[in-house]
Amino acid sequence: MSASYENRRTFAIISHPDAGKTTLTEKLLLSGGAIRAAGQVRARGERRRARSDWMKIEQERGISVSSSVMTFERGGVIYNLLDTPGHEDFSEDTYRTLTAVDAAIMVVDAAKGIEAQTRKLFEVCRLRDIPIITFVNKIDREGRHALEILDEVQEALALDVSPQTWPVGMGSDFFGVYDWQAKKFHTSDGERGGPYTQTKDVTGLDDPILTEFAFDRIMEELEENVELGAEGYAAFDHESFLEGHLTPVFFGSALRDYGIEELLDFIAKFAPPPHSQSATGGRTITPDENKVTGFVFKVQANMDPKHRDRIAFFRLCSGTFKRGMKLKHVRAGKQIAVTAPILFFAEEREIAEEAFPGDVIGIPNHGQLRVGDTLTEGEDIHVTGLPAFAPEILRRVRLGDTMKVKQMRQGLQDLAEEGLVQIFKPDLGSNWIVGVVGVLQLDVVVDRLKAEYGAEIGFEPVNVSTARWIETDPATLQKMIETHRMSIANDRDDRPVFLFKNAWEVGYVGEKYPDVKFRETREIV
Ligand code: GDP
Repeated sequence: MSASYENRRTFAIISHPDAGKTTLTEKLLLSGGAIRAAGQVRARGERRRARSDWMKIEQERGISVSSSVMTFERGGVIYNLLDTPGHEDFSEDTYRTLTAVDAAIMVVDAAKGIEAQTRKLFEVCRLRDIPIITFVNKIDREGRHALEILDEVQEALALDVSPQTWPVGMGSDFFGVYDWQAKKFHTSDGERGGPYTQTKDVTGLDDPILTEFAFDRIMEELEENVELGAEGYAAFDHESFLEGHLTPVFFGSALRDYGIEELLDFIAKFAPPPHSQSATGGRTITPDENKVTGFVFKVQANMDPKHRDRIAFFRLCSGTFKRGMKLKHVRAGKQIAVTAPILFFAEEREIAEEAFPGDVIGIPNHGQLRVGDTLTEGEDIHVTGLPAFAPEILRRVRLGDTMKVKQMRQGLQDLAEEGLVQIFKPDLGSNWIVGVVGVLQLDVVVDRLKAEYGAEIGFEPVNVSTARWIETDPATLQKMIETHRMSIANDRDDRPVFLFKNAWEVGYVGEKYPDVKFRETREIV
């Protein structure tokens, strides 16, 4: 792989389920030469699913739970595509993955526009000022008018939109895609609406290549779009894009290969190289620093249930990583030797000899590394900005066989460290409480504890509607514990948490302790 961080483009695709993320991922990989045949992203997913039991849930419900990394090279650029689960119950995982990217492609279904999950994920990108490229997918089907979609993106997300390409007809009248600035017509040499095969240079909208090919009314509409588009929407401004205020919009069809090359070319040219990363003590880590720093944004445990292995996904923020390097695990205060780092290509994994800022490597471990951990060449800093969210769904764990208490606790602790659930150990009583953001996570917990730890559990309702991290001085904390012992618990890192019965209690206790902060999120370091 080429040796610089400047040619790294680390990005994710965000979308509402069904908008076409899987299809687009596959086509990007195909175009980048990373896979050889369509169907492999899905096939690979299925192989992976078959490997461990809990992933049956993914299969049964047709959703993708686990995220991973796909690296490929095209035209001297290294693309690191981080996959994000689309289902809203796993959005926490997605949020953290988004802390590890420098740009995102937002896929919008041309018939549906901005959907709930797109909006939520977009908000996370906005919080982090991640530049967004919009891909309006499925224009080979009947969809909404191009201008209507642009207006919706602009209004719903309060973003300037800058159309880069236009559809030449949609649905049964779909002829291709027109790049109005480069004057290129992307089309099929087969039947109308067939898959993309060729790009024709044209002199403009009156070029016979276009006019003799597409229906008159399609050409009229295209002319109108181009005209209105140039007047009514923002011209592309690189700075504004990098700051997250403007999104370039591409129309395409992932299924029929329209828009894929344009996206990759655009990312290579305009998407940012690895960003600076803030850390504790007011430190900003820049990618051109010599020493290695990075953080774990995801942990995938038990990929092979026979071995308790875990892969920590580590995003490099600075320095040149070399295989075998000893890095400081800041939280644990220990050195670890990274002897078998993994690079994830679409079809295979390889041992990484070297990695650069922006790259993601997998570090196999037996539980030492967890989400939010920072590794450095000695410096005592923690990367900041990886949130844990106060769960809204809480359940008490009920164990089937009390002999398995140890296995259950180990399992829950492991899953908490993976970031799948949060656990709360009440000050009174021995039954742990599990907190999740979406109910589907509960099924995954039951399934995995059984399959991987041999512990059969169930859940009972608990009179808690939300948890908040308590931030106060030790004396006040002690006083709170004495007065509200029933409501206090510790999280997996033994940080104190208040388990509130309802919104009223949040207000009531808040008023009683005006100097105490009850946090809805906390940094995971
Ligand atoms: P995901 O849930 O966002 O990953 O969506 P998928 O990639 O699985 O696509 C959902 C469905 O939409 C599948 O049946 C795809 O074949 C279909 N699809 C994806 N892209 C296109 C497209 O450009 N045109 C059409 N007509 N269908 C598409």
